[in-house]
Amino acid sequence: MEPILEKARPFWGDALDLNPIRFVDSPWARLTGRAFVTHHTIHWPGPVPVVPSKAEMAVVIHELAHCWQYQSGRWQVTRGLVEQILYTLFGLWLKAAGAPPLYDPYDYGGPEGLSTVSGLRSLRLEAQAAVIEHYWKMSSGACEAIHGAALRSPAGSPTSYARDLRRLCREAGLP
Ligand SMILES: [Zn+2]
Repeated sequence: MEPILEKARPFWGDALDLNPIRFVDSPWARLTGRAFVTHHTIHWPGPVPVVPSKAEMAVVIHELAHCWQYQSGRWQVTRGLVEQILYTLFGLWLKAAGAPPLYDPYDYGGPEGLSTVSGLRSLRLEAQAAVIEHYWKMSSGACEAIHGAALRSPAGSPTSYARDLRRLCREAGLP
């Protein structure tokens, strides 16, 4: 197993089987400069980092969230594909028309939006991955604030935003 996956293991616990997951140095990912996932393969834009930065680790956690979606039901992959195609087509059309983007698939509405979400799986796939990535940023101490919203009160206790991130990820089986 890639050492980078071993680093992710404590975060995922039993929620994700890491054994079938592989990294590839992908020309397609290099083309866009962004990692992406097909089933259990993480396509990385270059050599897989041995000592990942926090930013790289956040990307790994995000891509593993897509592996988790795949393991929790194949329909999620089809749904993700449809979401991405719609988003890309709408995005191109709106851009051509000079209009602002219709929606951002990664956007779960910030702390206010998250407080109204009943379960992680009710979100769009990219928003689910964003919540999991932000939960990792919170639990690893990589970030003090996300989207300008604090994760800890001045006294050091978790804010309602931090508690919502934890609530949704725990319900989804993360430790
Ligand atoms: Zn994603």
